[in-house]
Amino acid sequence: AVEAYRAANPESHARHERARQLMPGGNTRTVLYYTPFPLTMISGTGCRLKDADGHTYVDFLGEFTAGLFGHSDPVIAEAIGQAVANGVNLGSHGPQEAAFAEAIKDRFPSMELLRFTNSGTEANVLALALAKHATGRGKVMVFEGAYHGGTLTFPASEVPVNVPHDYVFSRFNDVEATRQAIRDAGPDLACVIVEPMMGSGGCIPGDPAFLRMLREETEAVGALLVFDEVMTSRLGPGGLQSELGIRPDLTTLGKYIGGGMSFGAFGGRAEIMSHFDPSRSGSLPHAGTFNNNVLTMAAGLAGLTKRLTPSAILELNARGEALRRRINAVLSEAGADLVVSGIGSLMNIHPLGTEPKRPGDLAGADQRMRDLVFFDLLEDGFYTARRGLMALSLPIGDAECDALVAAVTRRAPRWAALLG
Ligand code: PMP
Repeated sequence: AVEAYRAANPESHARHERARQLMPGGNTRTVLYYTPFPLTMISGTGCRLKDADGHTYVDFLGEFTAGLFGHSDPVIAEAIGQAVANGVNLGSHGPQEAAFAEAIKDRFPSMELLRFTNSGTEANVLALALAKHATGRGKVMVFEGAYHGGTLTFPASEVPVNVPHDYVFSRFNDVEATRQAIRDAGPDLACVIVEPMMGSGGCIPGDPAFLRMLREETEAVGALLVFDEVMTSRLGPGGLQSELGIRPDLTTLGKYIGGGMSFGAFGGRAEIMSHFDPSRSGSLPHAGTFNNNVLTMAAGLAGLTKRLTPSAILELNARGEALRRRINAVLSEAGADLVVSGIGSLMNIHPLGTEPKRPGDLAGADQRMRDLVFFDLLEDGFYTARRGLMALSLPIGDAECDALVAAVTRRAPRWAALLG
C-alpha cells in the first residue's frame, strides 16, 4: 500500500521535500505528519478534497472535527465576505461578538458567562488558571492518555511540552480509583479536567457513572469540574453535557464552533467567570489580539444560528451512529478484529477485537494495521486520520456513507486474513 502511495503522489512528495527545508519535519502541526510523506491538499468543496496530484477524496476527517460545515459553506462564506468588506482589524469590541456569545450560551446554558480565545488549547489553559485562582488551590487532576491541546498532553507524547501545573493523574473510566484520588487530593484540588468522550484519545466514551461520580466528588471536596467539549460539543444540541445531564462548573469549546476559523472559548458559572471582569479589583487578566477577530465572530455566528440548528445536529449524529453500526457489522461479518468506537458523528477505527473502554486498551492495537487501513482507504478515495479518527461534516450524505461501507466491505476480508 505504501509503494502504491509513493507512486501515486509525486507532487505531494516534492512539496514535502521543499517544506522540510523550511519547517522541521516539513510541517507545522505534528498531527499531520506521517511517513513516507503527508499529502498536500490543494482545495476542498463540500465534503470533497483535491490533492496536489489531482486525486479527489471524500473528506471523512473533517479537519479533526473543526470542519463540521464542510468546505466553502455558502452561508459561512457570505458572512466572512461581509466581515472582510466591513474592516478586519478594528481594535475594539466588534459588531458581532456579543451576538455570537449569546448564540453559544443559548446552546450551552452552563456557560453563563464566557470568553473567546484563538484555540481550544488556550481555552483550556485559561480554564485551569481560573480554577486555581477561584479555588485558591494548586492541584489539577487529568487523565492518562488525555489530550487537551498542544501544551496539555498526558502523556500522549513521550516528550510532553506541558504547561506546568501541579498535576494529579488518574485513570479514565476507573470509578473507584478516581473517587479515591479526588478524596486524597481533597483540599488541595482546584479542578478535574475531562473530556466526556476522549476524542483524540481514540473516541472512548466516558462511562456515565464515571462522569456522574466526577460531578459528585468534585462538589464534595470543593473542586471545580471542567468539561473539555472542544470535540464533543457536537454530540448533542447542547453538547455531550446535556445528553448526559451533567452540569460542569466550566466548559471549554473549540474547533467547528468558529465556523472553520480559528476559535476557542471557555465559560461557566457566572461567579467563577467574573474573576475575569476587569471592573473588579484584582481581576484575572486575559488578553489576546485575535480573541474577538471579526472573521471568527462572523463565521461562528452564521454557522451556529443559520446552519447548525439543533435538528441538523441530531441528523448528523444519527447519520454517524448508523455509519458506525454498518461498518462494525461488515467488519464482524468478515471476522476482522477491527472495531469502530465513538458516539454519533465522531468515530475511530481500531485494530482491536472489542471496543476500547479505557486508553490502556489501545496498547494492544497493531500500528501496521492502522497504517494499512489508512492507506487502503486513501487508495479508495477516502480521507481519514492515520490514527483512524473520522468526523462527519454536514455535506456528507447517504451516497458518501454507502461508498465508504462498500469500500470497507471489499477490503475487510484481506484485513481479516492479515490480522489472523
Ligand atoms: N481539547 C481537545 C479535546 C482537543 O481535541 C483539542 C484539539 N484536537 C484541543 C483541546 C486543542 O484545540 P486547538 O487545536 O484548537 O488548540
